[in-house]
Amino acid sequence: MDDLAAGPETGSRETDGWETDAWVVDRPGPMAPGPMASGSAGTGPLVRTRRPVPEPGPGELLIRVDVCGVCRTDLHLAEGDLPPRRTRTTPGHEAVGRVLALGPDAATAGFAEGDRVGVAWLASTCGRCAYCTSGRENLCPASTYTGWDRDGGFARHLVADARYVYALPEGRLGDAELAPLLCAGIIGYRALARAELPPGGRLGIYGFGASAHLTAQLALARGATVHVLTRSEQARRLALDLGATSARDAYAAPPEPLDAAILFAPVGDLVPVALAALDRGGTLAVAGIHLTDIPTLNYERHLFQERTLRSVTANTRADGRAFLAEVAARPSPLQVHVVHYPFEAADQALADVAADRITGVAVLDIGERQ
Ligand SMILES: [Zn+2]
Ligand SMILES: [Zn+2]
Repeated sequence: MDDLAAGPETGSRETDGWETDAWVVDRPGPMAPGPMASGSAGTGPLVRTRRPVPEPGPGELLIRVDVCGVCRTDLHLAEGDLPPRRTRTTPGHEAVGRVLALGPDAATAGFAEGDRVGVAWLASTCGRCAYCTSGRENLCPASTYTGWDRDGGFARHLVADARYVYALPEGRLGDAELAPLLCAGIIGYRALARAELPPGGRLGIYGFGASAHLTAQLALARGATVHVLTRSEQARRLALDLGATSARDAYAAPPEPLDAAILFAPVGDLVPVALAALDRGGTLAVAGIHLTDIPTLNYERHLFQERTLRSVTANTRADGRAFLAEVAARPSPLQVHVVHYPFEAADQALADVAADRITGVAVLDIGERQ
């Protein structure tokens, strides 16, 4: 771990006086629609800044960020679809990095300096409420989130509660492939569970971005038939390459009725479309944290015959661990279609997400080692 020596040292408070680079959401508002000059500060909601390296408190880890994925939720935070919970917060909740220092009592979570770790969306829960104590910590009313309540991974350093950090043993997936798994992957995993796809069933996937292209591979490995419905022709090609049986426009009908569907596109107009595509008894799971308004539903066409509409809200740590274990156990590695951006171009990456210019998933290369 010789490159760790180049960064702030551990434990001894040698990080005092060190500064780090970070992006923050200054004033939530629309991302510029067109291509931007990389690193241009001050024109959009995302602004680059320098600040002291954070110090790990009790139970926390100081992490040097090597790669951070760019999620649509970061866009919702930058644009104000999710109202800010604290000013000038650093977005980013798909951070892969190495442990630089442990705060007091953090060792009990099992991490050591130099470990590869992942910081995801769920940053903390109360641990005491009815949801937390019944395996549903994703519904905890007191939960906090990385990049919303706490500074996230669009920065060279971050601190996180060690109990919510994922161990990412070195393996066949690199940092850039692992980063998108931390939100896009885990949420897709939970959405697939919530969609209650029967074994060998027919799954419809509406929208085919970061989360969908990972979820499709999970479903295919479990023996599902996958139909992809998305407006992007490039994404339709990727879907077919990954093994989908069909790929059509988002508003088109799939070639056969669906046992289950997942709506990844944040488009409420697609809810009745997807419900109408379900077979009797089918389930539609809405995977997004934000959705435009759902138009009026017709009971007969959209819900009768015991069709079910349900949401997906964040995830539990158990979801995350189970998903990462399923990925590690695959006979062939998950194919993660990564589009790289330098750290300095985080605003460009977010603008490209906003304009749907990315096929696959955008990641920021932050550390020296990717
Ligand atoms: Zn709770
Ligand atoms: Zn996310």
